[in-house]
Amino acid sequence: STEDPMTKEQLLENDRKYVWHHMSAHNENPMIIASGEGSWVQDVDGNRYLDGMSGLWCVNVGHGRQEIAQAAAEQMMKIAYATLVQSHIPAITLAAKLNEWLNGEYRIFYSNSGSDANEVAFKIARQYHHQNGKPSKHKFISRHRAYHGNSMGALGATGQAQRKLKYEPLGVGFQHVPPPYCYRCPFGQTKGTCQLQCAKAIEDAIVWEGADSVAAVIMEPVITGGGMIVPPDEYLPMIRSICDKYEVLLIIDEVICGFGRSGEKFGHTNYGVKPDIVTMAKGLTSAYSPLSATAVAAELYESFKGQEATSHLRHINTFGGNPVSCQVALKNIEILEKENLVARSAWMGKQFKKRLKPLLLHPNVGEIRRFGSALGIELVEDRASKVPATAERVLAFITACKLKGLLIGKNGDTVPGFANILTLSPPLSSTDEDIDFIVDTLLAVFNNDKKKG
Ligand code: PMP
Repeated sequence: STEDPMTKEQLLENDRKYVWHHMSAHNENPMIIASGEGSWVQDVDGNRYLDGMSGLWCVNVGHGRQEIAQAAAEQMMKIAYATLVQSHIPAITLAAKLNEWLNGEYRIFYSNSGSDANEVAFKIARQYHHQNGKPSKHKFISRHRAYHGNSMGALGATGQAQRKLKYEPLGVGFQHVPPPYCYRCPFGQTKGTCQLQCAKAIEDAIVWEGADSVAAVIMEPVITGGGMIVPPDEYLPMIRSICDKYEVLLIIDEVICGFGRSGEKFGHTNYGVKPDIVTMAKGLTSAYSPLSATAVAAELYESFKGQEATSHLRHINTFGGNPVSCQVALKNIEILEKENLVARSAWMGKQFKKRLKPLLLHPNVGEIRRFGSALGIELVEDRASKVPATAERVLAFITACKLKGLLIGKNGDTVPGFANILTLSPPLSSTDEDIDFIVDTLLAVFNNDKKKG
């Protein structure tokens, strides 16, 4: 019964028997997380770990925020559910708040996950072109290595072959171009003298596919989960002008970069571009409750206002924008503002950059990349050859950190042989002591490893 909690052994037994884990068939000995506070989580044995990846890049304001729990409970007691066929107070208030954060005029369509938000963006982009006399504009261009979600369209946009095996055919009309990956330039160029062939590749793709067939380009400001790939500063502005030139919409996926992780409110603000569509999830509620949003520039929304129903966006989902999640998002944003966590994220990132410099002396560290407070440490066999470190080697660093109480991530098995990038992206609310702990642990782990090596 609910009154008799299971013992650790019973939990493990039932987990092994009933739970289908994400990304693996079974996990013999999963960490069973029971509680959390600030940047720390605690498992059922009472072991504490610093949550160096904010869960999955999402718990921006940290764990255990009683004020968010309170806001959710109060909203549930008022009314837990109302549709957005009608409207409700938290959805309206949040849409206005998001406009303030986006510093522009956007219509907000709510759904439940980052994948959902991107699906909605694709439908809106296609329908927009239909209603503007260009029904042939239906294709999407994204980058290799990018992740945009798990549903058939969003997985189509994803540029990671490993994730698609056995699920094809996916949503059709998705083309991929090489990423702006300066450490391993797909065009064999050197940063600074390359004239951004990676950006030009998007123009080439639009031209080769036929501009009349391309609806939109979708990209994250930096590729996060696919390897922390930070483009040169001119890249995103170039993409914006290429999109304008060919009447192609620019969808910016802020699912990870948004809500302060980049050191600005949104990742694209770092590059001074105005997207046509912005998708957001994760940090929108700091994952206290599922919610995502597709923010659509007001100019685009104009063409969805027709009299006949077929000109409306024919899309509904039951839970999207439910009052409890919207209230949670509002409280989450209030915390980000009150505690200045966007600025703290930028500051924390600079601390990491400065204090983790000694890692660059380790022969397996090829490069450290940073966007706001999010870090990618690219591990190689040796710096000259840049051969990616093996999966075993990467796991050794992750395990050593875990043994010292620090959870870090890696950029999945997205490209065969290239699961070699360690990731760190702690809650933006991390205290000075948390930051010291992260830095000291990483320095110790790499130092011990060097001695062993
Ligand atoms: N876009 C990006 C950039 C993501 O990282 C993710 C999830 N990691 C998604 C979309 C999909 O979000 P969700 O898991 O909420 O569907």
